[in-house]
Amino acid sequence: MTELLHNHLGGRWQAGTGTATPLFDPVLGDELVRVDATGLDLAAGFAFAREVGGAALRALTYRQRAALLAQVASLLQARRDDYNAIATANSGTVKNDSAVDIDGGLYTLGVYAKLGEGLGERLALADGEPARLAKDPLFQSQHILSPTRGVALLINAFNFPSWGLWEKAAPALLSGVPVIVKPATATAWLTQRMVRDVVDAGLLPPGALSIVCGSAAGLMDQLQPFDVVSFTGSADTAALIRSHDAVTRRSVRVNIEADSVNSALLLPGEGADSAAFGLLVKEVVREMTVKSGQKCTAIRRVLVPRALYGAVAEAVGARLAKTTVGNPRHEAVRMGALVSRAQLGAVRDGLAYLQQQAATLFDGSRVALVDADPAVACCVAPTLLGTGEPAGSDAADRVHDTEVFGPVATLVPYRDGDLGHALALIRRGQGSLVASVYGSEPAALAGAAQQLADSHGRVHVVSPDVAALHTGHGNVMPQSLHGGPGRAGGGEELGGARALGFYHRRSAVQASTTVLAGLAQPTN
Ligand code: NAP
Repeated sequence: MTELLHNHLGGRWQAGTGTATPLFDPVLGDELVRVDATGLDLAAGFAFAREVGGAALRALTYRQRAALLAQVASLLQARRDDYNAIATANSGTVKNDSAVDIDGGLYTLGVYAKLGEGLGERLALADGEPARLAKDPLFQSQHILSPTRGVALLINAFNFPSWGLWEKAAPALLSGVPVIVKPATATAWLTQRMVRDVVDAGLLPPGALSIVCGSAAGLMDQLQPFDVVSFTGSADTAALIRSHDAVTRRSVRVNIEADSVNSALLLPGEGADSAAFGLLVKEVVREMTVKSGQKCTAIRRVLVPRALYGAVAEAVGARLAKTTVGNPRHEAVRMGALVSRAQLGAVRDGLAYLQQQAATLFDGSRVALVDADPAVACCVAPTLLGTGEPAGSDAADRVHDTEVFGPVATLVPYRDGDLGHALALIRRGQGSLVASVYGSEPAALAGAAQQLADSHGRVHVVSPDVAALHTGHGNVMPQSLHGGPGRAGGGEELGGARALGFYHRRSAVQASTTVLAGLAQPTN
């Protein structure tokens, strides 16, 4: 029988007492480990985190907590090989794709450690400048931010078991708020191993970091008014969380990162031989193939002028044809597997659904897998679709509101010279995490970025001068906001120090300026 992963709750490791759920290797089909959260005393576990972990974290200054984050990052860095092995086995990813998750998590931790150091030896943060309330300037109002006296329940999706943990936990812990993480079951192993390593090394105060692996049943019921919940996953689960009593009646603060039909836009006026054209093609292929397209930020729609539709299809198809797909352990393989049979089924269904409204320009179903049995492995090669004509782009409603969570993108031609048409098509995504724009005229790029900003959490602009510098359409940088309005969930994560706001309570203190001078100050 495979190992049963333990939960860490109430300051101790605990095994579930029910029927465990197995986790599988999505390439070989082998059972790897099992998870189970049955029978845990959730109420006691949440109380321990809230009271013991929270008190210990809040007693530290931002700089002291930042130092703990730096220690966590060094510990994890030293064990990267273990984490890579787990990612290969449980996520079916090639080394470069595992790095997006593992190294991305470590980098994010490092950025917050550095940022926290700069916040210094204080226990609360000032928010803005004092404002005069009376004729006499002696009486004023100063807003301050204090760490919330609750727990942060972090519920994550299956595609980022490392980054998904640390991009949420780093700002929470830096803010002085204890964390209880619930990883997605399919890939919970990597999250559990990282938490186990950190807890067993005794780096954080007891109760600061807990993990529940297995069913989410009962977790939301534990939440109290000063707790917060940060969720990443599907729109359906997000709706359940939003409508839970904890949110509707107890005002638990909630952040939702949901699905998103992201776009890439080639501006009018660029030719097939332009640098911008080449940069778009390269980025589209990268986004389709990194992590087999299982990135919430991946490009799903590619907006190009009608005149370039054929040329883009040909250039993207030629690159996709060189993508070797199969067993990530094989040195010739560039793209591994989807995480599970369930995801393989969902991607095939989603593709068939889109193909009823779009032509297949590059057909991944014809690509042979390398060193993988198609009857077992959850591998699927990339497929490029296209809506043919601008009128087809208008008519193909499914393309604008269906996220196929795999290596699938659709070429969406807009009327030549009509940027307004392209922007209107992009907006049919009803709010997305990210749009990228490709062109060579700074004024045109700035104008398009501004037009897209209201419906996107991030706009990534690629011009020839930053060809070798830009960080990638789909890479989430901790310095920039992550989240999007509308169907993307309406959440806001990261964005440097902005992330701390979610884990703090804002309060206005009205007092004499002699009193205000003592607020949010260094502790000695
Ligand atoms: P999911 O099925 O909604 O699951 C997400 C998480 O919610 C899992 O940990 C799941 O646990 C848990 N969960 C399930 N039912 C729950 C309930 N009733 N109450 C509380 N938690 C519950 O989503 P997924 O399939 O893992 O993730 C894929 C989706 O995530 C895609 O749509 C993708 O776009 C989105 N995503 C968004 C972002 C972003 O940052 N915006 C990032 C990555 C992924 P179990 O696994 O145990 O069911």
